[in-house]
Amino acid sequence: MSDCIFCKIARGEIPSKKVYEDEEIFAFNDINPIAPVHFMIVPKQHIASLMDADMSHQMVLGRILAKANELARSQGLTEGFRTIINTGRIGHQEVYHLHVHILGGPEPLGSML
Ligand code: 5GP
Ligand code: ZN
Repeated sequence: MSDCIFCKIARGEIPSKKVYEDEEIFAFNDINPIAPVHFMIVPKQHIASLMDADMSHQMVLGRILAKANELARSQGLTEGFRTIINTGRIGHQEVYHLHVHILGGPEPLGSML
């Protein structure tokens, strides 16, 4: 998707604070963090939301979750973190390129649910 902001970030066309990159996924800090550590892991492939995902995406979705621990630890989150996927209008999704938020910090986060 040429006009998708997270596709542009993953392609390096819009600057971001990169946390991790490989051939399939990209991780970068949220521009408006709501926790001391707040980054997102996204597939490089454009998938608009979890409502657009199916079994054909199982490898890249599994890769994102399987990398979360390592990436969280690389950002100092050794005692846990919160993982959020907002989906669709009801789920308060703002950017329609699937992303997994990773949130954490030195103290337990306030309740968000
Ligand atoms: P959601 O779609 O799950 O509600 O959240 C989208 C997130 O993307 C928000 O937390 C917002 O701060 C972040 N965001 C929106 N535009 C940009 C951007 O251009 N760069 C970065 N790094 N984050 C962004
Ligand atoms: Zn995209």
